[in-house]
Amino acid sequence: MTKSEQLFERAVKVIPGGVNSPVRAFGSVGQSPRMIASADGTHMTDEDGNTYLDFVGSWGPMILGHNHPAVREAVIKACEQGLSYGAATKREVEMAELICGSVPNMEMVRMVNSGTEAVMSAIRAARGYTGRDKIVKFMGCYHGHSDALLVQAGSGVMTAGIPDSAGVPAGCTQDTLSAVYNDAASVQKLFDTFPDEIAAVIVEPVGANMGVVPPAQGFLEALRAMCTKYGAVLIFDEVITGFRLAFGGAQEYFGIDADLVTYGKIIGAGMPVGAYGGKRGIMERVAPLGPVYQAGTLSGNPVAMAAGIAQLGILKEHPEIYTDLNEKGGWFFGEIRKIAEQSSVPATVNACGSLGSLFFTGQPVCNYETAKTSDTARYADYFRHMIGHGIYLAPAQFEAMFLSAAHTREELNGVLELIRGYML
Ligand SMILES: *Cc1c(COP(=O)(O)O)cnc(C)c1O
Repeated sequence: MTKSEQLFERAVKVIPGGVNSPVRAFGSVGQSPRMIASADGTHMTDEDGNTYLDFVGSWGPMILGHNHPAVREAVIKACEQGLSYGAATKREVEMAELICGSVPNMEMVRMVNSGTEAVMSAIRAARGYTGRDKIVKFMGCYHGHSDALLVQAGSGVMTAGIPDSAGVPAGCTQDTLSAVYNDAASVQKLFDTFPDEIAAVIVEPVGANMGVVPPAQGFLEALRAMCTKYGAVLIFDEVITGFRLAFGGAQEYFGIDADLVTYGKIIGAGMPVGAYGGKRGIMERVAPLGPVYQAGTLSGNPVAMAAGIAQLGILKEHPEIYTDLNEKGGWFFGEIRKIAEQSSVPATVNACGSLGSLFFTGQPVCNYETAKTSDTARYADYFRHMIGHGIYLAPAQFEAMFLSAAHTREELNGVLELIRGYML
């Protein structure tokens, strides 16, 4: 038995499924998880000393690569000043200024500790602001695991084969309406039925939790127009796309204004951080300024802020990182698409910037229904081929491949060779 297997044997006795988040389990690819001991740059090393070229990047945060020296040093320095005070700090002001100074429509921002919290709080703010209860989400979009949003929620839930979650009372989701991704007419129907009752439409501007599903031409524009017309709040869940597609996220990349935006992942550079923010009129409803209660003992934690400020600072000072990353993604996923087109294995490649997915289906993938036509057994086989050659992919079909600024063309060429070897 490997050390990873020994540790996993211990883990399953004391942690549900042996993991602290379901996406880390290797169940859907028929393996047990590699226990990661360290990571640096583009590589992770497991407890047995095996090294992997990583395309998960902690599910997004590692846009500069693992263990970036500037982030590490900022964290060490912050640790020397104490881990938490439960009081206001300079770093929180700097973080908020950094975000509000460069992201479109960000007039005020509140830090929290995870993407889940960010979305849950943004929904509450939107409901408090509009005085309405209903929210619209899209099938296959994941917005964290708060009760109201665990409806047709994509990857983790999809992979486990659980349509919804047990333990969520029907009352918690009765105001959650589901629409079809990339189908503005399905949203219009909901507004026709409930013209004065919808508080918010929440969307992943690039779907990344049913595999990568970019927005069709005009889709986000239509959501913007409907929200404006009916007085609903448009929430972009940019927990993955924020600071990734561009510093200003999908709002900047697609040129669409959201009313509220949620963040996680990249914003904490690997520390547990989330944030929500946007238009002043809405954010002024949040306590202690307004009646929408939201709080957090460790929110804006000084060590976490130090990590986030260091990473966002680099991204802001070096806009060429985005040009390079998006160019690299365009090339890399384009090459995978060429391979898929030549292959006898039915496969489709979707990509946007540095995010991409290879779906094992012959159909174009534009929403949850079409994503689900993928052959997950084939993905499991592909995954085993790749990890056998030292490539660490997401252990499930319905996830993104995350490129970082650290990935080199040489590394990516090596991966393309392996994909060719599997597909052709
Ligand atoms: C990961 C994710 C979340 C949840 O963030 P956590 O930090 O895992 O709670 C919410 N929305 C999207 C789009 C995500 O990808």
